[in-house]
Amino acid sequence: MAQRLIVIGGDAAGMAAASQARRRRGRDDLEIVAFERGHFTSYSACGIPYWISGTVPERDDLIIRSPATFREEHQIDVRVRTEVTGIDLDRREVVARDLERGGELRERFDTLVYATGAVPTRPDWARDEVAGVFGVQTLDDGAAVRAWLDGEPKPRRAVVVGGGYIGVEMAEALVQRGLSVTLVEHAEQPMSTVDPDMATLVATAMRDVGIEIRTGVEVTGVEQRDGRVAAVVTADGPVPADLVVLGLGVRPNTALAAAAGLPLGPTGAVRVDRRMRVPEVPDVWAAGDCVQTLHRVSGMAVHVPLGTHANKQGRVVGINIGGGYATFPGVIGTAVTKVCDLEVGRTGLRERDATAAGFEFVSVIAESTSRAGYYPGACPMTVKLIAERPTGRLLGAQIVGRSEAAKRIDALAVALWNGMTVDDMTALDLGYAPPYAPVWDPMLIAARKAVDALAR
Ligand SMILES: Cc1cc2nc3c(=O)[nH]c(=O)nc-3n(C[C@H](O)[C@H](O)[C@H](O)COP(=O)(O)OP(=O)(O)OC[C@H]3O[C@@H](n4cnc5c(N)ncnc54)[C@H](O)[C@@H]3O)c2cc1C
Repeated sequence: MAQRLIVIGGDAAGMAAASQARRRRGRDDLEIVAFERGHFTSYSACGIPYWISGTVPERDDLIIRSPATFREEHQIDVRVRTEVTGIDLDRREVVARDLERGGELRERFDTLVYATGAVPTRPDWARDEVAGVFGVQTLDDGAAVRAWLDGEPKPRRAVVVGGGYIGVEMAEALVQRGLSVTLVEHAEQPMSTVDPDMATLVATAMRDVGIEIRTGVEVTGVEQRDGRVAAVVTADGPVPADLVVLGLGVRPNTALAAAAGLPLGPTGAVRVDRRMRVPEVPDVWAAGDCVQTLHRVSGMAVHVPLGTHANKQGRVVGINIGGGYATFPGVIGTAVTKVCDLEVGRTGLRERDATAAGFEFVSVIAESTSRAGYYPGACPMTVKLIAERPTGRLLGAQIVGRSEAAKRIDALAVALWNGMTVDDMTALDLGYAPPYAPVWDPMLIAARKAVDALAR
């Protein structure tokens, strides 16, 4: 008889695991059932801001594989609009609710993959539904924002609460839709994924495209008029809004895991070993935004909810369930984003992470250009490096610039992943031609500056 794999969560991690397991084990050997409480499978949440802005025209452009494709081409029994409400480890069963027709079902498993993702942070004041207040976690959320933008009366003023990368991307999307946008952030800078000196550049660029930024301000509520949002309430007074977007971060979705007794780590996310197995719970695996992982530089357990990790981790799970051997080696915190034409890349530790991890370090900022200074289109690029003192090992890097600046972080991520020192980096054989870089690449200039700082 075929063994039975049940997957909870039908997006990046869950469906990567299911697909890999299917590649390696046929239907007669492994039956695969995936439960997804939403309407869609394998969709790109990352693309939602660009769908809202209109850069990506259709919702379906964001769907990589539909439930029908999984059923017909991969023999994976995907059950959408079905929410798993309990995991019974003793009986090896999940309990689920049919969200369309009602009613409860129980399904047996031999192997379980827990891939429930993350849940957006919703402050107390946003717990009640208020027309015009939105999170942006799922395609349904994206559809709701688009419907509000296209409906009557047309919203003119938007407030984005939270200046993380999703808040920043949404602010850009709403500017592109012609709204006047205010971003409210309780920290002193938006974009706290980079150090404050680099975040200042991001804030300046946002102001340059007309986004009003209010930092050091806490939102404490919303005002309504005629059943629609009219303003957000802050200690500095109300900020008028016909549309409010929440971008306050996420936490791992572990309610089911905790109730079933799966081990959680210090980050609050599910603990897994290098093969993505849940320790001490036979045949249960977990991946994606619901798990914690190892930060390869700090050595600490971290929760880094990004699609790039969810896909890789899901693949590792699927290979292992399929009878192969794969491990997830941890992360170094590489991420890229943009706000209008300004691009931001980061990898490794920020200064505050390096301090928290106990490192002694130097940090340097190098100003350079994206192309040879005389070549048309050359624009400023700022590179920050953080290096351990006295070893010179690269601990972190950040880039702010234009014209493909963000993806330059990948070269620094490879250097960091491989434990290079800034001294090693000064001699790196990076490509040069005037349309692509100055003769001294911005990375090399920054590395030289870091070497000088270490010598002082
Ligand atoms: C607006 C936005 C922009 C982003 N941009 C980027 C980016 O540029 N780069 C990047 O790397 N990452 C980005 N991310 C993050 C990325 O989308 C996530 O890290 C990734 O989707 C995580 O995949 P996952 O499978 O772990 O979780 P999810 O994608 O959250 O999938 C989990 C699924 O499980 C389902 N589920 C949960 N509980 C149950 C249950 N009890 N029963 C049944 N189903 C359940 C959910 O409905 C969901 O579909 C972005 C996210 C958002 C929201």
